[in-house]
Amino acid sequence: MMQAHIPTMFLLVIIVSFTMTACTAAVWRPERKEGLGFLTLALALHGLVYILFGLRDQVSDALSILVANTLLTGVFVLFTEALMQFQQRHPNRWLTCWPLVVLPVTLWLLLDHLAARVIVVAVIILYQALLLLVITLSLHRQTEGRGQYFLACAFALIIATMAYRGVGTALGMDQMLQITSSNPIQMVTFLTAIITMILISMGLVLMTKERADAQMLKLAMHDELTGLPNRRYILEVLERLLAASDRQQQPLSLMMLDTDHFKLINDRHGHQVGDQSLKLLADTLRSRLRTQDYAGRLGGEEFLVLLPNTQASGARELAEQLRQSIEQTRFLTRDGRPLTLTISIGLCCLEPGSELDSQQAISRADQALYLAKQNGRNRVEMAA
Ligand code: GH3
Ligand code: MG
Ligand code: MG
Repeated sequence: MMQAHIPTMFLLVIIVSFTMTACTAAVWRPERKEGLGFLTLALALHGLVYILFGLRDQVSDALSILVANTLLTGVFVLFTEALMQFQQRHPNRWLTCWPLVVLPVTLWLLLDHLAARVIVVAVIILYQALLLLVITLSLHRQTEGRGQYFLACAFALIIATMAYRGVGTALGMDQMLQITSSNPIQMVTFLTAIITMILISMGLVLMTKERADAQMLKLAMHDELTGLPNRRYILEVLERLLAASDRQQQPLSLMMLDTDHFKLINDRHGHQVGDQSLKLLADTLRSRLRTQDYAGRLGGEEFLVLLPNTQASGARELAEQLRQSIEQTRFLTRDGRPLTLTISIGLCCLEPGSELDSQQAISRADQALYLAKQNGRNRVEMAA
């Protein structure tokens, strides 16, 4: 194994820690509570710990062994705080903080036993990294993006390194444990320190960005009032479903849905009641549609529903159910007056090979809707 220049390695860990501290501090936005504040503190503390380790021969054992190792477990406690804040959970502090007390007491008792000390530190840090790995992976389905895997890799690497240190020491490789001498165990430890500080800070910063991106995308694609896909999104879905139904030679049905005399509802009961009835309508759509169907708000009190693999008869049946369900929903206004909401629906069913584009399909459904309005409202009509 190549011989490393130990003071240079210390300097590298310290420089990387403080560079990452500066980077995470620069992107930290206190009001967002995403863990970057705790991460910044952890990275700064990590730099400080390595300064103390580096001063091993210049300061007292108490300072460089007891204080430095205790602060090192503090770094991991801060990582836990950062991760839990990002996940908007509260850490169980009994599980996370006991090393802050147990470690210094044990080290003090073992001050004359180098190998035992190394094993204790390795086991405790292994525990902390394992806890962090479990916390990271426990929410991995709910967490957006890939930054979380940077963290998982870092914690796994720490676990492996600590196992190597612990087992190596137990097997009698303790001549390699002098923190200021160049040997394989020390080299692996230094490299792990550098790599993990980079992975953890990049990972969490990336996670905050990925979450913000996902929130932005959701806002850009959904209607604020009803939570349904907005016009842009539902038209995009229509293009996608048209292409798929063409490829698979499957029918696709479109439902254009418009609230009857909505202007009157607004005029009689106020705009707020109007808004509430739109929400109620959206809830009904959500609860009645199958998982493969899509409903979106085209604008105003007009909605578009897309039914893949659905023929005219099935679409008509579903439209009729929706119409009845809305008609039968009793809705009370704020002053307790019952309000009846009805909708008119225009249907257009595209059979395989119909070769209509999205605009043509929509305008057919729109014509059917116009017919439903003309024929007395609160009814379903189908395009020829
Ligand atoms: P029709 O039966 O022919 O569809 O009559 P209508 O009154 O429903 O149709 P019209 O298009 O004349 O009026 C639609 C009304 O919907 C006008 C507009 O003020 C109201 N509207 C549009 N968007 C919203 C909204 O987000 N909230 C509320 N409360 N009202 C809205
Ligand atoms: Mg209307
Ligand atoms: Mg309308």
